Amino acid sequence: MDLGFTAEQESFRIEVRDWLAQNLERPWRVESRDPSHDADSLVEVRRRWQSRLNDAGYLGMSWPQEWGGRGASEVEQAILQEELIRADAPGIVNGLGLGLLAPALIHHGTEEQRRRFIPKMLSAEEIWCQGFSEPGAGSDLAALRTQAEPDGADYRITGQKVWTTFGPWSDWIFVLARTDPEDRHGGISFFLVPIDQPGVEVRELKQITGHSEFGEVFFDGALAKGEHLVGKVGEGWRIAMTVLGFERGAASLAPPASYERQIDGMIAALRETGEYENPSVREKVGQLLVENEVMRANGMRTLATLASGQAPGPESSIEKIYWSEFHQRLTDTALDLLGPKAQLEAGPQGALQDVNWGYEYLWSRAGTIYSGSSEIQRNIIAKRVLHLPTAR
Ligand SMILES: Cc1cc2nc3c(=O)[nH]c(=O)nc-3n(C[C@H](O)[C@H](O)[C@H](O)COP(=O)(O)OP(=O)(O)OC[C@H]3O[C@@H](n4cnc5c(N)ncnc54)[C@H](O)[C@@H]3O)c2cc1C
Repeated sequence: MDLGFTAEQESFRIEVRDWLAQNLERPWRVESRDPSHDADSLVEVRRRWQSRLNDAGYLGMSWPQEWGGRGASEVEQAILQEELIRADAPGIVNGLGLGLLAPALIHHGTEEQRRRFIPKMLSAEEIWCQGFSEPGAGSDLAALRTQAEPDGADYRITGQKVWTTFGPWSDWIFVLARTDPEDRHGGISFFLVPIDQPGVEVRELKQITGHSEFGEVFFDGALAKGEHLVGKVGEGWRIAMTVLGFERGAASLAPPASYERQIDGMIAALRETGEYENPSVREKVGQLLVENEVMRANGMRTLATLASGQAPGPESSIEKIYWSEFHQRLTDTALDLLGPKAQLEAGPQGALQDVNWGYEYLWSRAGTIYSGSSEIQRNIIAKRVLHLPTAR
C-alpha cells in the first residue's frame, strides 16, 4: 500500500490549482452570503461554475473519451475534489446526474439515450434529480409503489417520490417505478421523465436548516416515453443497484478536506477570543484533528486499493459511517466550544468566522441518513465484511 502521490499526480494537482487561481472569482462562502443572491440566483452561479469545469475538461474525467473522459484515475479525481474544496469552489448543479445517472446510462443505456442526455448533463443545460425514495420506501427501497402503466409504446407514471434533492430546479427526474406489482425486485423499471409536463407537480420541502433543496414529486399519469426506459422492463432494480454502488462507492478525499477547513475556521475563531490557549479546548480540537487525519489516511488506503485495480467493496460503508458521524462530532464540539458565537452567521465582512456553524450543525444530521443510513451501513458491514450470522 502506497500512501503518497506520484510526481505525475502532484503535477496534476498543480495544474488544478493554477486553473482555480485563474477561474474561481469568489470563494463560495463569500458568494453564498452575498445579500444580492436568492436561492435561484445561487443555483445559476453553480450552473455557470459547472459549465466552466466542463469546458476545462474536469467533469467525467474517468468516463470513455467520447463522453468527455480523459482516462483519469480515481486518484486524479480525488485530487481534483480535494483542491476544489480547499479553494472553496461552489458545488456543481448536476451532482446526481453526473454521479449516478450518467454511469448508469454508460453501462445500461442505449446509444441514443447517451447522445441525447449526457452532453447536456455535463454542460448543466439540463438539471437532473433522483426519484427513488417514497414515503413508504427509503431503506427498504423495493417497497416502492409508484406505478408505470403501458400506454401504447409509452408509459404513464402515477405515484409520489420524496426527499428529491434539487427537485425544485430540475428539468428531468430518473424514476424507479413498478411495472409488475407481483414481483418485488423484478417488477421495477427505470425511467427518464421530463418534469415540465402536465401530470408532474414538484412541491418544495423546507428543511431544518431553513433552506429548501428538496422537493416532493407527485406523478398523475405523467408521460415517460418508451425510448426513455433505461434497460429492459423489470431491470430497474439491477440498474438501481449499479447507481447506488456509485453513490456509496469510491471514497474520495473530499470529506476530510472539507472538515479540515471547518476545523481551521474553528481554531481561528478560538484564537480571536484567546480561548485557544486553554489546554482542555486544545485537547478537544486536537482530538478532531487526529480523527480527521485517520479519515484521510483511510481514504488514501481506499484510493490505493482502487489504483491497484480492485473495487473498494462493502468496506466503503465504513467510510460512510466515519465521515457522517465525524461531521456530527465536529459540529457538536464547535457549538460546545464557541457557545453563542457559533450561532452567529458569518457575514460578508467576515463577522466572526468562515464557517456557518449553525447551518453545518443542522446539515450534519442528514449525513447519517442519506446514501443509506448508519444502521443500514452497519448491517452491510455485519453481513458482508464481518460475515456475521443474520436474523431471518
Ligand atoms: C439530505 C438527503 C437527501 C436525499 N436525497 C434523495 C434524493 O435525491 N432522491 C431520493 O430518492 N432519496 C433521497 N433521500 C432519501 C434517502 O435515501 C432516505 O432518507 C434514506 O434511504 C432513508 O429512508 P427513510 O428516510 O424512508 O427512513 P426509513 O427507511 O424509514 O428508516 C427510518 C429509521 O429506521 C432505520 N432502519 C430502517 N431499516 C432498517 C433495518 N433494516 N435495520 C436497522 N435499521 C433500519 C433507519 O436507519 C432509520 O434510522 C435523501 C435523504 C436525505 C436526508
